[in-house]
Amino acid sequence: MTGAPLDDAPVITRFAPSPTGRLHVGNIRSAVLNWLTARAAGGRFILRLDDTDAERSTEAFGDAIRRDLDWLGLHWDESFRQSERFDAYHAAADRLVRDGKLYEAFETPEELELRRRTLAMRGLPPIYDRAALKLSEAERAALRAEGRRPVRRFLLDGQDESWEDLVRGTERVDCTAISDPVLFRADGQLLYTLASVVDDAETGITHVIRGADHVTNTGAQLQIFRALEQTPPAFGHHSLLTGPEGEGLSKRLGSLSIGQLRDAGIEAIALVSFLARLGSARPVEPATRMEDVIAGFALSSFGRAPTKFDEAELTLHSAKTLRAFEHAAVAPRLAGLGVPPDEAPGFWAAVGPNLDRLEEAGAWWALCRDGAVPIVAPEDAGFVAEALAVLPPRPWSTETWGAWTGALKAETGRKGKALFRPLRLALTGRDRGPDMALLMPHLRVTPAPEAIQAAAAV
Ligand code: GLU
Repeated sequence: MTGAPLDDAPVITRFAPSPTGRLHVGNIRSAVLNWLTARAAGGRFILRLDDTDAERSTEAFGDAIRRDLDWLGLHWDESFRQSERFDAYHAAADRLVRDGKLYEAFETPEELELRRRTLAMRGLPPIYDRAALKLSEAERAALRAEGRRPVRRFLLDGQDESWEDLVRGTERVDCTAISDPVLFRADGQLLYTLASVVDDAETGITHVIRGADHVTNTGAQLQIFRALEQTPPAFGHHSLLTGPEGEGLSKRLGSLSIGQLRDAGIEAIALVSFLARLGSARPVEPATRMEDVIAGFALSSFGRAPTKFDEAELTLHSAKTLRAFEHAAVAPRLAGLGVPPDEAPGFWAAVGPNLDRLEEAGAWWALCRDGAVPIVAPEDAGFVAEALAVLPPRPWSTETWGAWTGALKAETGRKGKALFRPLRLALTGRDRGPDMALLMPHLRVTPAPEAIQAAAAV
């Protein structure tokens, strides 16, 4: 049984995406859990680009991954690409060959498929039968002469592998029930299975946190660590995400990219705090500071049950997060929407608690700056005209609304909704929105009497 690394070893985690596409909610969960595990322990977080597949990996996807992580605030202490490290992988492979742990297998995919079907028909596990191990040197030479190119497989040692999984508890993989993993394809291309072990060993990774789809892989990789005489890290396999009803994650949700979520107005820290709790025993709570997300994180609170991901829940969580932001957290973005810095704190106090997405603040700012197209019910036209005529002179403060509506109440006898609603509609053209007392100091333009008349006539 493999134990977790010594408690006093500095924690080092890594996120290892393949730069063959944009990051999506499925793999960003691994990023979040690894980043938080490192930060919560005061450790290090490494970004590793698994780009051994030269055909599918691109520089542009690598850059996009970096940008997405940056946007999320998941900063890394060190970054490297597997394509820079072929020498290290080949050295490890040489060692495995020397020790009789890596062997050539010449079967074509079609032959393997046929054998798998035969085994399945006989009720046997469809695993590779190691026929290649029985070939003589002469037979191998003959196959080569035929033009066959072998894959290279790692010889599993046929015993159970078990470990204390950081998420799933005691986990076991029966290595007699899995095929010897291919470490090099027939075209010579090295696969991730070996590269990852070499990197995890050489960069001193202490915790590997990844999806439950890697559990079997871990069984094989533990044996590769051992074959290379390296101490394996601790492993944690988070459950896979499902759709809101427990169904498999739809193609759309599964491939929902970070870019799309950002464009939909999801706050970066909201996505991180959401994934920091989703599937754990702790409730999803809005957080406005990363320190709080880190402090409230515990990998041990996660469970093995599949985790429902509901985009609507995330949207709601993001809105709650946004409304809780202090002005300082959004100041640069408000400036970007044209809100003058001296007015921004008061303006944020007024509109912030009403927003679902930050960019909606832009519309409220335009309304303050340019005035609204008023809405006036015909029966309220007289009251609204009278009210606007007695508006106190500017500058307005947060007291203005109370003083003005108080006086109108005394004068007209209107109260409650009958008093406030026509005024809100006339000043903002909307029947709901920010606290009017807080908004008044920022309303630069009020409708002219003609505009009230015109609106009432519609
Ligand atoms: N590149 C692998 C993947 O994206 C990394 C898995 C791992 O974390 O070991 O599945």
